[in-house]
Amino acid sequence: MFALDRLLGWFSVDMGIDLGTCNTLVCVRGEGIVLNEPSVVAVRKGTTHVLNNGTAVGWAAKEMLGKTPGSISAIRPMKDGVIADFQITEAMLAYFINKVNGKSRIVGPRVVIAVPAGITAVERQAVKQSAQRAGARTVFTLEEPFAAALGAGLPVAEATASMIVDIGGGTADVAIISLADIAACESVRVAGDDFDEAIIDYMKKSYSLTIGEQTAERIKVEIGSAAPIGETLTMDVRGRDMVSGLPRKTVVTSDEIREALQEPISAITEAVLRTLENAEPELAADLVDNGILLAGGGALLRGIDRVISNATGLETRIADEPLTCVARGTSMFLENLESWKQVLDGEDGEG
Ligand code: ADP
Ligand code: MG
Repeated sequence: MFALDRLLGWFSVDMGIDLGTCNTLVCVRGEGIVLNEPSVVAVRKGTTHVLNNGTAVGWAAKEMLGKTPGSISAIRPMKDGVIADFQITEAMLAYFINKVNGKSRIVGPRVVIAVPAGITAVERQAVKQSAQRAGARTVFTLEEPFAAALGAGLPVAEATASMIVDIGGGTADVAIISLADIAACESVRVAGDDFDEAIIDYMKKSYSLTIGEQTAERIKVEIGSAAPIGETLTMDVRGRDMVSGLPRKTVVTSDEIREALQEPISAITEAVLRTLENAEPELAADLVDNGILLAGGGALLRGIDRVISNATGLETRIADEPLTCVARGTSMFLENLESWKQVLDGEDGEG
């Protein structure tokens, strides 16, 4: 069976997929990252029918949303780190797999999908089946924190503890890894989206100004911070006045936004502390030297490394290219598929 699989390998691609709550990345063995699109699907309002025969996915979905906002809605099927809607997740996965694989290939790809660590066995199975229905020949699933740590270059297979905090859009995942196994992990549904929401709430309370999610995200990226950043930055913000209902502009400062972000940031810091408290003493001891690594888009929030370092007393670093760690991890996994096979749990063999 194995020999046959290897033979078929000559005619197909190996594909690693980071199915994130905000962004989906696909990498192909030997080619690196070949697709990076928002995890968004456009459906006709009130239905689960993906528009344009299942192709209103990713950038195409975003584009449609801008043009015909009334009749269609955007669905982020992975929003909270769990699969909110299987049908739509499957449509999204199929679209991305086919886009990369091309319809012309005779043999389906081997696929490694990074899934949230907190996913149930049933959900994991559903993801695998979705990928198979989308044309994959063999499907492996890999836990996201593991993929992130691998992609970030941490020594995951060694007998020393590595700690990774992946702050994505919908969830922040904290994990301690040793000997190619997740020794402790916790996932909280507080991450980048919640930073945006905290900014929306702040603008409402302090300025009676309603702003959209995209504006909130822009504020976060441009002037947001978790800890003081030395200078005070300002930004013009446009929205709708809650009293008059009319468009209005105001100016906010980075100090105000930092204040607004305190609550979701504390929730993440507390998850990090809880994971450390629950870790075996020997693993905790390793972390004194090894420190903590931050990954995911949320790691780019200014000063978040300092906040986590202050709270834990451990050296905290930001991964290189934190947005692509998981995808690069799946790619590294693919390159050493045979030797990593032991890492996968029993049911995860060839499927
Ligand atoms: P996921 O894995 O859940 O898809 P990502 O790791 O792709 O999430 O991260 C997406 C999140 O990172 C979004 O909330 C986005 O706003 C946030 N993000 C991206 N760049 C920055 C930045 N420079 N500063 C702060 N947050 C950022
Ligand atoms: Mg992610």
